[in-house]
Amino acid sequence: MMNTSMSSSRGFGGLGSTKPSSHKVRDIEQELREAEKDDELSSDDEQKAPAGDPNEIKPCPNCHDKMPASEIAAHTVQCYRNSTKCKVCSKVILKDKKKEHLMHWRNLELLKQAIINDQCEQVSLHFDHGADCN
Ligand SMILES: [Zn+2]
Ligand SMILES: [Zn+2]
Repeated sequence: MMNTSMSSSRGFGGLGSTKPSSHKVRDIEQELREAEKDDELSSDDEQKAPAGDPNEIKPCPNCHDKMPASEIAAHTVQCYRNSTKCKVCSKVILKDKKKEHLMHWRNLELLKQAIINDQCEQVSLHFDHGADCN
C-alpha cells in the first residue's frame, strides 16, 4: 500500500486560468526568425576574423610568464616538460631550479630573518619546505 495521505498539490486551486495571448505568440515567432538571421550573420563574421590575435599577449598557464599568443603553444609544451610545481607553495619552478628552491626555503639565515621581521607566512613556508631549526 502506498501512503497517499501527503498531498503535494494542496491549495492549488482558483489560479488555473492562463489566458493565451495570440499577440505574444506572434512576437515570439518573429523573434525566433530574427534570431536565425542573427546566427547567419555571426557565422559570416567568424570567417572574416581570425581565431585569436597572434600578437596578443597571454600568460602561460603553467608559469604565468606573459608572451605573444603566437609563441605560447610552443612555450607551454616546453614549460610543462621542464618545470614542476612545488607541492608546498604551488609555485611553478624549472626542474633544474627545484633544488635551489628548496635550498632557499631551508636556508636558516632566511628563516631567522623572516622570524625577526615577523613574516608569519614566510616563516611557515620555510617550515613547510622542510626547514629544520633544531
Ligand atoms: Zn611557461
Ligand atoms: Zn615551494
